[in-house]
Amino acid sequence: MRDPTSGEAEPDPLDERMKVNCQGVSQEISDGAARAAELIRSAGRVIALTGAGASTESGIPDFRSRNGLWSRFDPLEYGTIGVFRRDPGKVWTMLAELLAVTDAEPNAGHRALAAMEAMGRLHGIITQNIDGLHQKAGSRSVVEFHGSLAAFSCGRCRTRQSLAEVRTMPLPPLCTCGAVLKPDVVFFDEAIPPDALRVTEQLIGTADVLIVAGTSCQVAPASTIPLRVRRRGGRIIEVNLEPALGQLADITLANGFGASMSCLLAHLQGK
Ligand SMILES: [Zn+2]
Repeated sequence: MRDPTSGEAEPDPLDERMKVNCQGVSQEISDGAARAAELIRSAGRVIALTGAGASTESGIPDFRSRNGLWSRFDPLEYGTIGVFRRDPGKVWTMLAELLAVTDAEPNAGHRALAAMEAMGRLHGIITQNIDGLHQKAGSRSVVEFHGSLAAFSCGRCRTRQSLAEVRTMPLPPLCTCGAVLKPDVVFFDEAIPPDALRVTEQLIGTADVLIVAGTSCQVAPASTIPLRVRRRGGRIIEVNLEPALGQLADITLANGFGASMSCLLAHLQGK
């Protein structure tokens, strides 16, 4: 990785912008972030789609990775509502481990997206993550496509409990009616919550720019979002260590989430 300060030798119209604080990224990424900032400045509405790669820098391994949750728990055995109804105690052996993600703290990328929203430059985040880190970082407009661990509900009497309350209970946590509580996460055989779909449609339908960060967009229906934004004339900024969108992306920052988003924010603020 080149020293970002080494670009002074090469005269470039973007030189002024490169003086913004983009620590730990190459000149190429800083240039890309400068172009992304221009695109965002010229856009009406900007939204973001985030996935597991946004949380790895917060110490949460991608559930699908070699060391991820699903390497230890077969999703078909532990991740379906069908199994939960038959044997909630078994599913809770997986959920007990999953709860650890609620101890994680947001990283620089989460904070940058929250700052962009506060600046009026970001109008919503659609996340496939269930860790609540966008909200912890201060983001307000967040759609949790796959639910969250912030609340739990009883399938029998519909009583709801907060994460804080569940944390005080022995596992598996029981409702006052005696049934086992289920987190508001979307299991593999469950539908995306209607409210999340509705707000997602609103966001997609008005987006001029979509930032895709930390997701290879391989899991439907989130996988269709970049193409849909593109089809209605929107532009795509991809932030992925291993880019996955190819020609669909107008600007690609092949770099980690935290440093890329910090650099993009710095360029946005550096006007
Ligand atoms: Zn109950």
